Amino acid sequence: MLPLRQLAKDYERESLTVRLKWIEAILSENAIAAQLSQGTFGSMPKHYRAQNYLSLGAPVESVRFVGPAHKKSLNKLGLKTVGDLLFHFPHRYLNPAEFLPIAQVRTGQEVIVSGRVRQVKKARIATRKMTVVNVGVYDGSGYIWGTWFNQDYMADVLKEGTEVCLRGKVLLHPKFGLQMRTPLFDILRQVGEDADTVHTGRIVPVHPAGSRVTPNFMRRIIKGALRKSGALPDPIPWSVRRHRELLGLPEALQEVHFPRGEEQLRRARERLRFQELFLLQTGLAIRKRRLEEEEPGLTQPVSGTLLGSFFSKLPFVLTQEQEQAVAVIKEDLARPHPMNRLLQGEVGSGKTVIAIVAMLVAVENGNQGAIMAPTEVLAEQHFRKVKEFLRGLGVRVALLTGSLPAKERANILADVVERKVDILIGTHSLIQDEVEFPSLGVVVIDEQHRFGVRQRTSLKKKGRFPDLLIMTATPIPRTLSLTLYGDLDVSVMRERPLGKRAATTRTFLCNRSHRDRAYQTIEAEVAKGRQAYIVCPLIEESDKLEAKAVLEEAERLKNKVFPDLKVGIIHGKLKSTEKERVMTAFRQRELDILISTTVIEVGIDVARATVMLVENADRFGLAQLHQLRGRIGRGGDNAHFILFADPVTEEAKARLKAICEISDGFALAEADLAIRGEGQLFGVRQAGLPDLKLARLPEDMDSLLEARQAAFGLVAKDHRLKAPENALLLREIKRVFAGSLDWLFQS
Ligand code: ADP
Ligand code: MG
Repeated sequence: MLPLRQLAKDYERESLTVRLKWIEAILSENAIAAQLSQGTFGSMPKHYRAQNYLSLGAPVESVRFVGPAHKKSLNKLGLKTVGDLLFHFPHRYLNPAEFLPIAQVRTGQEVIVSGRVRQVKKARIATRKMTVVNVGVYDGSGYIWGTWFNQDYMADVLKEGTEVCLRGKVLLHPKFGLQMRTPLFDILRQVGEDADTVHTGRIVPVHPAGSRVTPNFMRRIIKGALRKSGALPDPIPWSVRRHRELLGLPEALQEVHFPRGEEQLRRARERLRFQELFLLQTGLAIRKRRLEEEEPGLTQPVSGTLLGSFFSKLPFVLTQEQEQAVAVIKEDLARPHPMNRLLQGEVGSGKTVIAIVAMLVAVENGNQGAIMAPTEVLAEQHFRKVKEFLRGLGVRVALLTGSLPAKERANILADVVERKVDILIGTHSLIQDEVEFPSLGVVVIDEQHRFGVRQRTSLKKKGRFPDLLIMTATPIPRTLSLTLYGDLDVSVMRERPLGKRAATTRTFLCNRSHRDRAYQTIEAEVAKGRQAYIVCPLIEESDKLEAKAVLEEAERLKNKVFPDLKVGIIHGKLKSTEKERVMTAFRQRELDILISTTVIEVGIDVARATVMLVENADRFGLAQLHQLRGRIGRGGDNAHFILFADPVTEEAKARLKAICEISDGFALAEADLAIRGEGQLFGVRQAGLPDLKLARLPEDMDSLLEARQAAFGLVAKDHRLKAPENALLLREIKRVFAGSLDWLFQS
């Protein structure tokens, strides 16, 4: 039922205009629809019927004009239902106000013109082995030619009589007159199409389209879908909408597809953007709430002396950020509900210590701790460090990796079962079936972005609701972590421990002519007693030719370039014992230079390394480059990060520019987001979060925070959206999270 009493009170306080708006809104959509879905009303006006809403689920072919061939093409675009069509937004709008009469265009200008195709000419330029299609467009004021090379099909796309708009640079052709070469174009109306679907003279939407469904046919179908859906009740509850001047859903959909003007379009997008973010955050809120409150967890307070002894032996004091992280983690562990915390720490900010603290608390409480790292090299490094930190404390630590001999492995597994091991460190091998923990208390996942969601949850499932600490050195902008990891609590460590911060790492972007100088820099650093990495990326591990090329390059460096230095090589094909041998040699300074494919990317900590040279740097993502750069200058010495690259794409150029100019990981992450757009970043998570179609991060930070607050507030009152006034919201959540309902409501 509606919280009528509260509503009435608020109502009293409002002005007359606001009251009228309320009445209108309440009557038209939410309240009635919610009660309808509960069957509390008998008869309702026709357009309030729940079926109207249900029609969102109807298949696309129920829309007028859509035949089997179209259906296939639409399905390929991910459009299966009427609802999908309604939320398939234009990616572009053509605004006739920007069209220029052809008579007014000047050569050299970038312009948009529109008109009707009058002539189509195909020609062949024998001397250059090319074909040319020339399309003459007339708009009543003048004539312009669109020219396409080696694209014969353009003659069929732009037939005589088609209404079209062209965008491009105007040239003057000696024979033809005004011309655009391979202009961008949109078809406004095809020959013989009825006038009803033409929206020339107003803002024309251009929807992403497919093979059998052209943009203008798409416009027609969507118009049909809008007509069919009728008066949609609003999934955003009235309580959330009432103080925000959001358009109603039907109006917003109408205006986003067929805007009557700029202002209407802006408001429609605002409303739909809010809806997108609100639905996403509501889903996250439901999940977070469930993980925290509804799952029974372990209560693991700091009880003994173990932690104290650990701190008293630590050779350094914690940074303030580390202290803070430790404090919240202690609180999390002491609560009777599972911890789900993401520790986002800049490279070298000292996350390992935090992980140890968490696991020690588990050990104090008679439980076990486990830490999973993405590579063997890293797992072994953790193992060595943890053992060193815990020496003399009586905590038993073991290492489990894929390359252990069977017998040793069996022994360790048996020890874990018999609780002879307190802390188990390992790689993916930790999640294999044979691994059993009698009482897993704290699970730590290091460098989480290297694992899939499934791998993370399967380690967690080795215990009964253990506390989970996820660590990442890949900084993510706040907007993104509130979405990608919006169901987790987040701790952030931005700074390296004092004393280590003094080091500056300079980044150099080089081309071939700098090669000798780069090698000289390496020699000079080695002469000072420092060490160097050279990274040669492999694109595909499986590509034998590539692997050979990398090995040849390594041999060349070793024998020709640095014949007097001690050079080691590490790559993916090496056995892990061999890898570890090379790493140990490098760590103990038996090697000056380590040549490597990307295995050194994460976590490696060798204090004296001060130079890194990266080949083909354009093949790395920004996060990876930042990771790599974090490997040098860790001992406080100034360092050189030398990038060789031949960037082709604009994106690669932008990435390299960013890595040269920005050193702060979080700022770099913002730049990365801006360069890539958030769409691709969502792939990182792999858990079917609904896509953001209109919202843009980080620009829409304000809407995001507002939507998050509203969503979390709502879910705090109604955990599973069981209240009638939230019935439509629940239905919509189920629709947009269709691919991951279990993630939301179970698991
Ligand atoms: P990351 O966050 O990149 O995993 P690590 O945990 O490997 O960083 O820590 C980097 C280095 O800093 C390690 O050698 C670690 O022992 C050291 N360290 C961690 N915390 C501190 C501190 N508070 N003061 C000084 N050194 C520290
Ligand atoms: Mg680390």
